[in-house]
Amino acid sequence: MLPTIAIVGRPNVGKSTLFNVLTKSRDALVAEQAGLTRDRKVGRGKVGGMPYLVIDTGGLTDASDGIATRITQQALQAIQEANKVLFVVDGRDGLTAIDEMIAQRLRSFNIPVHLVINKTEGMQSELVNIDFHRLGFSPVHTISASHQRGIEAMMETVLSDFSVPEESEMDEAEAGIKIAIVGRPNVGKSTLVNRILGYERVIAYDQPGTTRDSIFIPFERDGQKYTLIDTAGVRRRARIADVVEKYSVLKALQAVEAAHVVIMIIDAREGMTDQDASLLGNVLDSGRALIIAVNKWDGLTQTEREQVRYTLTRKLHFIDFAEIHFISALHGTGVGHLYKSVNIAWTAAHKHISTPLLNDVLKDAITRNPPPLSHGRRIKMRYIHQGGQHPPLFVIHGSQVDSVPDAYQRYLIRFFRDTFDLQGTPIRVEFKQGE
Ligand code: GDP
Ligand code: GDP
Repeated sequence: MLPTIAIVGRPNVGKSTLFNVLTKSRDALVAEQAGLTRDRKVGRGKVGGMPYLVIDTGGLTDASDGIATRITQQALQAIQEANKVLFVVDGRDGLTAIDEMIAQRLRSFNIPVHLVINKTEGMQSELVNIDFHRLGFSPVHTISASHQRGIEAMMETVLSDFSVPEESEMDEAEAGIKIAIVGRPNVGKSTLVNRILGYERVIAYDQPGTTRDSIFIPFERDGQKYTLIDTAGVRRRARIADVVEKYSVLKALQAVEAAHVVIMIIDAREGMTDQDASLLGNVLDSGRALIIAVNKWDGLTQTEREQVRYTLTRKLHFIDFAEIHFISALHGTGVGHLYKSVNIAWTAAHKHISTPLLNDVLKDAITRNPPPLSHGRRIKMRYIHQGGQHPPLFVIHGSQVDSVPDAYQRYLIRFFRDTFDLQGTPIRVEFKQGE
């Protein structure tokens, strides 16, 4: 699982500014362009090739009940699920009573805490630290979130105990296609997991080293290996009916990161809610192959079905790569068809396209629809190669390519998608400026 970092601190110390810096990436723009409201509290980022998840516990203190140190349930859950805490304080205000109370609270968790002294631009770091050392946390970082100072050095230290996830081909082959099933509470995740595992031969419990609580559940269907990644105890709850699940966006995103293909469930009766939209935004950021399953399709009238279909396809039209399935997890209707889309999406996400073929196709795309002028000069794309898979990344070299308009990028992506039959996976295009 990806390293997960929780940002904690009293109001106004710069937590959300820091969160934005840590999650600001080109990838994050994908969801924004798609018009999705991303979850502003949970995001992903990368430093020196090391990806991580970060959560802003924002509401650490619940001001409404007048007790500033009350840690909200959600913040508590986030801290417990994180690998490390960034405890942010304000270098200009100096140490406050609330900081001390939060510090005391943090010490009761068994989790490494890094002290982050923010707003230190233009200050001498030796002078800044003195007060805060009393808190006893180490290491201590002096940064400026708004001026983006000290961030990278801090993150390198924070992430130094983790290694870039690297899977051997052996493990990959063993796990097969890794699937995460996500969605907000009550959409039918555990019902679907139950369905899938009820049908298929579950390999997990027969193998040494796997426990019943394992979150990776291998199974097989039609000779193809899959591994289901359990999100937030979905499967356990499926077995024990009355356990109340604490919905965790963080766990859902960890599962997404570990997956090859994500099945996102939407409740047909509720339509796409804000919570769905923000989860979807985060899923898009991850670059994972994606399938949308509209669940609880049973029991709807024909008119209702047409309405739901119309509204959802309109709302989701910008994710043109994701197959939409209408299913009933409860009755099993349509569940079998999901596999076909999963297989197609996985194949597309892992496709490798040869450089000569790519260059022919790029030439073709340009001939049919040349790129526009930029500052009176034509954008020239000279050379393309595949820079990565999962999702496919195409790197285009040329001149003026840093001013390729979004619309033209979308044209190219669509062209590649159609030509190479890349269904189910996002496609990334990167431009490299050169003469
Ligand atoms: P939060 O309540 O902890 O999430 O704090 P915000 O991120 O909303 O920041 C509170 C205020 O501090 C805003 O006005 C920010 O612009 C400002 N701020 C954040 N980081 C810095 C910094 O590094 N230096 C300075 N001078 N101001 C900062
Ligand atoms: P989760 O919170 O996403 O794991 O959702 P559950 O699987 O626990 O399902 C929530 C409720 O929706 C339960 O009462 C399920 O029986 C019901 N449900 C799940 N799938 C379907 C479906 O396909 N049709 C109908 N009618 N109800 C469903």
